[in-house]
Amino acid sequence: ITKELETLTEGLNEDQVRAVTSMSRITAVFAGPGSGKTTVLTRRVGFLLHQGVSPDRMMVVTFTRAAAREMKERLARDLGSRLRAITIGTFHSIFLQMLPWETGRIPVILQENRQREWVRQILQEMDQPADEEAVAGMLSQIGYCKGKGILPDRMKVKKEKNIRFRNVFLAYEERKKEGGFWDYDDILLAFHRVIQEPKHPWRTRFDHVLVDEFQDINPLQFESLLDLVGEKGHLFAVGDDDQAIYGFRGSDPRLMLRLEEVYPDIRKVVLSTNYRSTEEIIDAGQRLIRHNRLRQPKRLKGTGKQGILPKWCEPADEEEEARYILDSLQDGMETAVLYRTATQARAVIDALVREDIDFTVSAGDASFYRRWQVADILAYLRLAENPNDLDALVRVINKPKRYIYGEAWMDELWHLSRKTGKSLLDTLSDLDRLEPYQRKKCARMAEEVRQLQGFSAREAISRIRDRIGYDRFLTSFAEDTGGDAAFYRETVDELELAAEPFANPGAFLRHIEQVEEKVREHPRHPRVRLMTFHKAKGLEFDRVFLIGLHAMVIPHHRSLQVSESKKREAWEEERRLLYVGITRARKELVLSVSQTRQGKRVGASPFLTELGFNGQEANREKPTSPVTSGGSLPQRPAASDQPQLRFSREAVQAGDRFLHRKWGEGEVIMVEPLQGVAPGRKITVRFSQGVHSLHYELARQLG
Ligand code: ATP
Ligand code: MG
Repeated sequence: ITKELETLTEGLNEDQVRAVTSMSRITAVFAGPGSGKTTVLTRRVGFLLHQGVSPDRMMVVTFTRAAAREMKERLARDLGSRLRAITIGTFHSIFLQMLPWETGRIPVILQENRQREWVRQILQEMDQPADEEAVAGMLSQIGYCKGKGILPDRMKVKKEKNIRFRNVFLAYEERKKEGGFWDYDDILLAFHRVIQEPKHPWRTRFDHVLVDEFQDINPLQFESLLDLVGEKGHLFAVGDDDQAIYGFRGSDPRLMLRLEEVYPDIRKVVLSTNYRSTEEIIDAGQRLIRHNRLRQPKRLKGTGKQGILPKWCEPADEEEEARYILDSLQDGMETAVLYRTATQARAVIDALVREDIDFTVSAGDASFYRRWQVADILAYLRLAENPNDLDALVRVINKPKRYIYGEAWMDELWHLSRKTGKSLLDTLSDLDRLEPYQRKKCARMAEEVRQLQGFSAREAISRIRDRIGYDRFLTSFAEDTGGDAAFYRETVDELELAAEPFANPGAFLRHIEQVEEKVREHPRHPRVRLMTFHKAKGLEFDRVFLIGLHAMVIPHHRSLQVSESKKREAWEEERRLLYVGITRARKELVLSVSQTRQGKRVGASPFLTELGFNGQEANREKPTSPVTSGGSLPQRPAASDQPQLRFSREAVQAGDRFLHRKWGEGEVIMVEPLQGVAPGRKITVRFSQGVHSLHYELARQLG
């Protein structure tokens, strides 16, 4: 072995070396999180270069942009300028680079917000519910079909519901074609079509194709991939079926097994050591994932790194959750905050901006303040601050309905205001064209808006809703468009919570401007990174917060809206999502579930029960764990010496003595979380007169 080859395999275990240096045409590494799949894949790129493979004959694919970026960074460190010649990115980005060469033009890609807007309009035109949930549902279904290569004109449908879906799908496709737009799935479809041609030069374009996160491949990508590999190319695929989380987009982890059927001479390498996490974190992950039935059995052992047990955090609400996170940042440990849905980032982002702490978050996750309901309310606040803000006035003039339409009124308003020297807002009720009832409405609105300045931001919003009638508008808008008024109101509820800390509307508006700025900044060395479970896949951090682990959030209620036969699959995919989150942590894991969400009491995710977190088990010392391993981990006190988690309820565990007003003294024999009810625990206690189950919190009051 030459010197360079030695460095290429330095520090790797035997199996990993076997994978890196595999001489088989088709090699697959299917293994658990943190076992070095991505490591092996990047090292193999170096190995292939060393073997004399030309970098421009190599293609490296990952499934998310974040992962592609990370991969480029890892490779850049090792390879320097040779990296540039390697084709590397997501399937979408790579295919998008290759296609213009074929079609002679660069397709215009339809951005996500336009996509949503179009589907919303189409649904409205068809007199169907067009609220955000419905739109998201449609788009996800469209993506699902396209990922499987199913187009609307080829869909055979009988059921009323499916016919409706096909019609929306058709309208969407037509509209796209008319405008000359593509969506991301069109890229895959076009590529797939082009490469079908048996003699197409792309079939011999690459000698080596390397795919990370193979479990997220969809049938269309799978077929294109096999064509890209062609008769003579090499394929190196790594993945973990337990981390398959794109089923809703048509991905199918069973394609990993399909690979073995297509290539009977495939070389399989198993990796079974997790180098990433402490034993405690690996344990937590295994405890959860073993509840999935649809999975390949696999072994995963740690390297003996001892750390602390996962922490269980029960803040009163989202604000307290955010404060807890900010407090912990003070120790400077690398930290990520992960959540199931983008809205859940709102409170943490707000707190970070208020404290001026550097963070990164993808713009999409921070889009709360750009929702249309929010934009409406903010327009009212802006108008209160500046009664000459025409944009704001136009935005809210008919919310609620004041029956002022067309544009002529704006001209009139403008001229009249110039003449009288009064503000636009105050001039409104002087417009000649108004009917008496409109005049009254406008005068009242102007009066109410003017007064907003004297209130706290939260009160101001509450007045916009009640006195000015914005909630009334939401209700009638929902009725007109088939939308979901409750869902719209929830957004405004959340906005009210966000406004809480601000003494006046102006301060809140300034804060939101700052949020927009901070989100765009993307500092290179953030103190904390925020992202969804989906986006965190493949990444790792010293400390990971999983926040908002509520029932209905994970598993997400929308993902469970599937036929009975698909329920189990959907449920398992959500479990995998949480598994991905847990397995991102190297040293410290905090599971957080606030007692209220958007001001309402909510229960904890049923997955937490499976994790065995009864609120008492976290922070409890493991019976036999030595204080630390001798490894690279810093000395840590034993778990029981950790300061009690600030928001943990007082611990209770089996064996504790318990005093009850009526039954006297007893011994706790079991502790379990209450399901479906706001966070709380049920304890089972043996008293001298018999065994009773009690709601812990209530029993405490009695006891
Ligand atoms: P995931 O399934 O989450 O994507 P993975 O299998 O791709 O995980 P990697 O990200 O490649 O795992 O590796 C996890 C961590 O373990 C990395 O920090 C990596 O540097 C480290 N690692 C991998 N192999 C070894 C090894 N042989 N010795 C020490 N550390 C290792
Ligand atoms: Mg990986």
